Amino acid sequence: MRRLITVIVAAMLLSYALAIYFVMYYEVQYGDTLVGIAKSFGVSPSTILDWNGDLNPTMLKVGQELVIPIPDGVVYEVKKGDSIDAIAKRFFTLPDLIKKANDLTSDLIFPGQKLFIPSEIIGLAFNDTKTFIWPVYGDISSPFGWRIHPITKKWAFHTGIDIAAPLGTPIFAADSGIVEYAGWYKGYGNFILINHGKYKTAYGHLSKIDVFVGEYVRKGELIGRVGSTGISTGPHVHFEVRLDGKVVNPMTYLPSPGLKYVYNGSIKWVGGEK
Ligand SMILES: [Zn+2]
Repeated sequence: MRRLITVIVAAMLLSYALAIYFVMYYEVQYGDTLVGIAKSFGVSPSTILDWNGDLNPTMLKVGQELVIPIPDGVVYEVKKGDSIDAIAKRFFTLPDLIKKANDLTSDLIFPGQKLFIPSEIIGLAFNDTKTFIWPVYGDISSPFGWRIHPITKKWAFHTGIDIAAPLGTPIFAADSGIVEYAGWYKGYGNFILINHGKYKTAYGHLSKIDVFVGEYVRKGELIGRVGSTGISTGPHVHFEVRLDGKVVNPMTYLPSPGLKYVYNGSIKWVGGEK
């Protein structure tokens, strides 16, 4: 045991020295919970869900093997046309920090390359001056209100805003709250609903859900990944704000689109203590 600990500590020191990460494999024991395992490894439950494809967070199986990154963080697979700058924006962080975390000496990246994004650098550039932070870095492809539906071609009310972003772009909780729904929901595809008390926020068409019902999530915490599930014409997030059960225009509660990413030199984590 002692030897194992020595090896793990040595591996950790080495990975920190090289500014990279390593993964641990953990076999689920009787009585384990996702939150408990996450706590003992010092990572968030959403990290474990993000790394373990088909995991059912409320029904872990004894003997099931989990992959856990040390330190806490997620992987982003580089897409065609991506740049370090663009990826940094999607994680609301700084390009230099991504380069440092991946031991890159230039801006050269290639499609398919996997970059590790440590949790501690995610969200440094969230703009937290309005009710909500932008859940995704992307352009609005369809505003709130009446429109011709892109698929049915019929006049219909759009209950949220569509934020276009590449497949796999991280989605963050717009505010702290309790997850009320996480799963498939009709045309929304993979869908998350978070209850913030006065407001609720909803996120549709995800490729991956990284939260579970009843979970408390912090503002800015990773909740899933952009996809095109349900009734959708391409990768985007359908983002809704509900006030007293009625949908309202999300733009009223978000910083203006040009100010969704702000970095003023001071390192700040809006989600509070991690
Ligand atoms: Zn939509």
